[in-house]
Amino acid sequence: MTATHSTRMLILGSGPAGLSAAIYAARAGLAPIVVQGIQPGGQLTTTTDVENYPGFRDVIQGPWLMEEMQAQAEHVGARMMWDTIVDVDVSVRPFRLTGDGGHVYSCDTLVIATGAQARWLGMESETRLRGQGVSACATCDGFFYRGKKVAVIGGGNTAVEEALYLTNHSQDVTLIHRRDSLRAEKILQKRLFAHPHIKVLWNREIAEFVGGEGNQGLVAIDLKDTHSGARERIEVDGGFVAIGHHPATELFHDKIALDADGYIEVTPGTTRTSVEGVFACGDVMDKVYRQAVTAAGTGCMAALDVERFLADQDFEAEAEAASIAAE
Ligand SMILES: Cc1cc2nc3c(=O)[nH]c(=O)nc-3n(C[C@H](O)[C@H](O)[C@H](O)COP(=O)(O)OP(=O)(O)OC[C@H]3O[C@@H](n4cnc5c(N)ncnc54)[C@H](O)[C@@H]3O)c2cc1C
Repeated sequence: MTATHSTRMLILGSGPAGLSAAIYAARAGLAPIVVQGIQPGGQLTTTTDVENYPGFRDVIQGPWLMEEMQAQAEHVGARMMWDTIVDVDVSVRPFRLTGDGGHVYSCDTLVIATGAQARWLGMESETRLRGQGVSACATCDGFFYRGKKVAVIGGGNTAVEEALYLTNHSQDVTLIHRRDSLRAEKILQKRLFAHPHIKVLWNREIAEFVGGEGNQGLVAIDLKDTHSGARERIEVDGGFVAIGHHPATELFHDKIALDADGYIEVTPGTTRTSVEGVFACGDVMDKVYRQAVTAAGTGCMAALDVERFLADQDFEAEAEAASIAAE
């Protein structure tokens, strides 16, 4: 049976951004509802070792961290819904959202924390070796390749930035690009070409990521020359796919302002979107940092922005009621 759930604050997404927003909002007495989506806990549930989330000296596991965040959010009063939103109407007040099973959510404020997924090449060997040498995040995983050989796949800003970042850990970084020039900004290209520890392989496509014996993970990448079709193998310990990200904003096209890459636009320094009462936090509005801690930070900002927004609304409503009573 379908039901209508009404709340002052609805949060879409249960990654670090959504759950941090939930913790702050629940502690402020807003009793938020969190719609978890198809990936409860978000992207960190797809990884193992996390070494850069503050507060933990030892390596922690991504799924464990997200379970703890959810438990903390529930402990302080947030309500979790196992549902995925398939329709959003922000042209009415309260906002009206519909879940894939037909449940309706009615809310005074909406926080969008639906994240962004890395784009992958889509080959079987890539999926099989993900987390075992194949990654889409140098900031997250580069540290694990200290003194090892790594390759970055891509030709845009992200690929060049990842290659440059990886030189902090590796003296042998290869950038693999399927064309003969990069799309990245000129200044980044200049830094890349000048770097003594980065070499570029032009006009090469990935034919296959090659795993070693047993649990050894990635040991090499087979490449194909895009002109001649010739194959070659390069030995690497890590392969970073850096061909962009896909923000989860399909639901909001033509409803909330998005930038040219599909990320939600917010007023700088806040989490306010183009629609009053709708806020965005985490990777869905941040194409620069894309880290758990930055997602959590903007989640906190969203909760504080919501709290102030609702307080202003309540104040105005009370003032109006008082002036009517005085007439
Ligand atoms: C393999 C991997 C390893 C990583 N390692 C690290 C690391 O070591 N350190 C680090 O800081 N960062 C790491 N990151 C990055 C980090 O996970 C992200 O920056 C962070 O998870 C972003 O948080 P978020 O809450 O914005 O979005 P996400 O974590 O992407 O969560 C999005 C949430 O939105 C929900 N959702 C989407 N659509 C809907 C919908 N229609 N209705 C309802 N809910 C919806 C999803 O179910 C999900 O719960 C890693 C990422 C990956 C993929």
